[in-house]
Amino acid sequence: MPGEFDLIAKYFTRATPTAVLGVGDDCALLEPTPGMQLAISTDMLIAGRHFSPSDGPGTIGHKAMAVNLSDLAAMGATPRYALLSIALPEADDKFLQGFAGGFFGLAQKHHVEIIGGDTTRGGLLTLNVTVIGEVPPGQALRRDAAQVGDDIWISGTLGDAAAALAHHQGKLRLETGQAVQCFPRLFVPTPRVELGLALRGIAHAAIDVSDGFAADLGHILERSNVGAEIWFSHLPLSDALAPKRDEPVVQDCILAGGDDYELIFTTPAEQRESVTAISQQLNLRLTRVGRVVEHTGLSILHHGIPMQISRTGFDHFSA
Ligand code: ADP
Ligand code: MG
Repeated sequence: MPGEFDLIAKYFTRATPTAVLGVGDDCALLEPTPGMQLAISTDMLIAGRHFSPSDGPGTIGHKAMAVNLSDLAAMGATPRYALLSIALPEADDKFLQGFAGGFFGLAQKHHVEIIGGDTTRGGLLTLNVTVIGEVPPGQALRRDAAQVGDDIWISGTLGDAAAALAHHQGKLRLETGQAVQCFPRLFVPTPRVELGLALRGIAHAAIDVSDGFAADLGHILERSNVGAEIWFSHLPLSDALAPKRDEPVVQDCILAGGDDYELIFTTPAEQRESVTAISQQLNLRLTRVGRVVEHTGLSILHHGIPMQISRTGFDHFSA
């Protein structure tokens, strides 16, 4: 059975070209880029709650990095560094190999250096990742910066991850082709890092959809002290979900399903052409789905009539 330090050396130690000091000492040492602000975020994933222990180790590793990168993306920050703390029921080589492959694979793609962490034995597989990014002063895409009159946009498509989960739980029936489209959205989400960077200086506010479209948009509205009107028929759906837009379970996936990791962002109307250009440049669908209004809450209109929604998103302490 390998010891703690063998595990760290074997699985979690990689080159850190820009850090002054990486894994192996009491602290890592960093030299931030002069004049930049640091954007720092942390996210915990627990077996049985955020993923199933039976999920592939590579997908668990990917997701642990992806959900954190998504927070940097939603802030318009350039990813730089990460720390990984992991509690393991057992030191299983096959798991660790696969996990590290998924985790470092995505980190490398975004030039993220792993500079430290903690490794311990624990009853439930538990992962905590902290990411550090950089953003020029005044350019972070904050939740409190939406303004009345702004356009509201969403990247990619909504509801696919939740539809995959609903299918898995027997609440929704997807055909094979549809399931093939939806399952990767749940297991190997794509953080919209490049979009977050492109939106610096263009978007007012942004947030990533982790808990559900309505809940996450709600955070922008609350923090910005504004309301929103959303046009349900404009919400972008994948080919898999488009034919099912009017099914109640699918509507719940679209409006309240988590794990999409798309970005909701608001821009002044004069930025429409810039957003279209970004969409073309990144080859990423960006859809205008509503507008920011005076503080009157969130109104989702379907055929011009406000929809009644039973829930807005996932909350660990309700439901
Ligand atoms: P300390 O006793 O000072 O807390 P540790 O013995 O926990 O240090 O860790 C030794 C070194 O390995 C530290 O630099 C720590 O940041 C790093 N480290 C521990 N676990 C991990 C991990 N899972 N991923 C990356 N680095 C790790
Ligand atoms: Mg330690």
